[in-house]
Amino acid sequence: MQLKHHRMQLPREVIVGNGVLERVGEIARRLGFINSALVIAGPKTNAIAGKKVRRILEAKEMAVDTLLVESATLKDVQKVERKIADVKPEIVFAIGGGTKIDVAKCSSARSGIPFISIPTTASHDGIASPLSSIKGFEKPYSVMAQAPLAIIADTKIIMQSPWRFTISGYEDVVAKLTAVKDWQLARDERKEYYGGYAASLALMSAKHVMLNANLMQQKNEEGLRVLIEALISCGVSMSIAGSSRPCSGSEHLFSHALEMIRPNRALHGERCGVGTIMMAYLHGSNWTRIRGTLKKLGAPTRAKELGVDKSDIVEALVLAASIRPERFTILNKLDLNREAYEHLAKVTEVI
Ligand SMILES: [Zn+2]
Repeated sequence: MQLKHHRMQLPREVIVGNGVLERVGEIARRLGFINSALVIAGPKTNAIAGKKVRRILEAKEMAVDTLLVESATLKDVQKVERKIADVKPEIVFAIGGGTKIDVAKCSSARSGIPFISIPTTASHDGIASPLSSIKGFEKPYSVMAQAPLAIIADTKIIMQSPWRFTISGYEDVVAKLTAVKDWQLARDERKEYYGGYAASLALMSAKHVMLNANLMQQKNEEGLRVLIEALISCGVSMSIAGSSRPCSGSEHLFSHALEMIRPNRALHGERCGVGTIMMAYLHGSNWTRIRGTLKKLGAPTRAKELGVDKSDIVEALVLAASIRPERFTILNKLDLNREAYEHLAKVTEVI
């Protein structure tokens, strides 16, 4: 059998720890960037970290421009692309939680220059993945862009972000329990390409954060590090797989569907966490353990806690499989009707 060529783009440096932002100049220099940089941040994340990055790089005599973005739409991406064409930086620094990193990742990839990820929250695995989620592209889910050349995760900064964001990141990792099950199902039933290594890496990350749930307490740096390492490993698993397959299955389809029905009610990880409980039930996995762990951490497990109505949950379940028809999951296999979905949501106590 002739195996297809497979390209994996991985981060070259990952620096995690308290105060590591101070080392941004040294890291840039080591990677060969000595002349120019563009900082992409939001107004808040610029104050938290962007200005400091700029100051440190300028002290190394680099020419630094800053562009603030507010959202992750096609317009924002084009705005950054124009800026890149205009100032021609050697490297882009993406400073923020979700949207800023998505915009910087996508626009730098389209402009053919690398980017360095500096997360200010640990709310999802996009901080290290090669995929970006942009509103205005034809797909409501993430598409391939490029992996960060380096990731600088300063726990001192991330620890100051709202606790809810951190728990959302935790749930995005737990979601790999069902994402990997869905991938195995696609391998068995549809002969889809299955990367055993990528799948194992994503699954191990999920199991690792489940085992270390007791470390997940506010101001506990050890727990935050476990989570950040797991999120980065998930990002790397997507780089190895060449797609989001190891990290995004039926639970993510449910999350995307719910976001389409009721936008901006809950965080990505929060929706995925609830999705994971229900999809684990469908897979015959230990869904009560997942639910128990999320509940203990104060994560939402019910419709009300996600800020949506019971009917929205059922609607999202009905819609989920159609969002991405080529992504075979337990939803396609079971092909349930509305009544069965309602039963699923009730039995798992989501509604
Ligand atoms: Zn996710």
